[in-house]
Amino acid sequence: MADKNYRAELVGVFGDPVDGNPTGVLEEAGFAAAGLDWRYLTCRVAVEDLADAIRGMRAVGMRGVNLTMPHKIEVIQYLDELSEAARIIGAVNTVIARDGRLIGENTDGKGFVRSLTDAGESLTGKVVTILGAGGAAKAIGVECALAGAAAIHIINRNEGRGAELVRTIAENTPARADYLPWRGTAAIPADTDILINATCVGLFPDVDACPDVRYEDIAPGMLVCDVVFNPAMPLFLKKAEARGARVLTGLGMLVNQGALNFELWTGEKAPRDVMYDALKREFEEA
Ligand code: NDP
Repeated sequence: MADKNYRAELVGVFGDPVDGNPTGVLEEAGFAAAGLDWRYLTCRVAVEDLADAIRGMRAVGMRGVNLTMPHKIEVIQYLDELSEAARIIGAVNTVIARDGRLIGENTDGKGFVRSLTDAGESLTGKVVTILGAGGAAKAIGVECALAGAAAIHIINRNEGRGAELVRTIAENTPARADYLPWRGTAAIPADTDILINATCVGLFPDVDACPDVRYEDIAPGMLVCDVVFNPAMPLFLKKAEARGARVLTGLGMLVNQGALNFELWTGEKAPRDVMYDALKREFEEA
């Protein structure tokens, strides 16, 4: 019998809950299209098991993992190195195993910025208004500022979280940043070029929910984006479209961060069209 290699390269995601995480669909579609014998494992890892899971990942030689709730911050203590973005954001969604070292990166915000570029939009000199100040908002705020946005408005209910994100952006990027409280119905600043819902409002199964903002403030010239990708067209974007704004769904961000992970792990260019189609098919069939 000729020499044969039965060992696949392993990557995956650690989270809890994680069963509904669709990243494996797009990564495995990418591996198949690129002819790579790689597998993406979706693993439920409880908070108290994260240290063992990372030790296990080292032991079996996994090439990397994604981290999702509730591990993005906790994982940092088990890593050997952080990228600049992960250090500023203070959270890791992707670990890359390289030469026996685990490197933490954050591709959430980069995925968002790449989806804007795909749509032919530039951030240079733009005023960006972000609803929310959680993990996704932080990653997007920092990367938009690093990509050349002139100013970032943060609108959030929790003042402490909102003010902390403003400080993070102001201390680590050239952009101006300010915090606007969110009590009752929030007004959208008139100088907004790009408005982003970075809260979880509207996420399945709460598909009839949308952020409590003054929709009449949305002007036709604005680009309105949502991080929610399930449903693909949340009520927030439908209302923005009805106001004449251009809209960008969260699918592009998801696919692009998946593509960035693919490239960091394999060192090869990601077949993004194949990955996007696989994800779209998955949602259509669901
Ligand atoms: P976090 O829990 O870290 O943050 C949630 C944020 O939403 C907080 O700022 C919170 O405000 C705000 N929020 C929650 N409920 C409301 C409400 N009713 N009204 C106003 N604000 C509210 O979550 P993440 O940042 O990790 O995730 C947010 C969303 O981003 C999720 O839907 C997730 O699926 C999506 N996501 C999408 C990605 C993609 O690739 N498309 C990638 C990563 C995440 P407060 O601070 O006041 O409590």
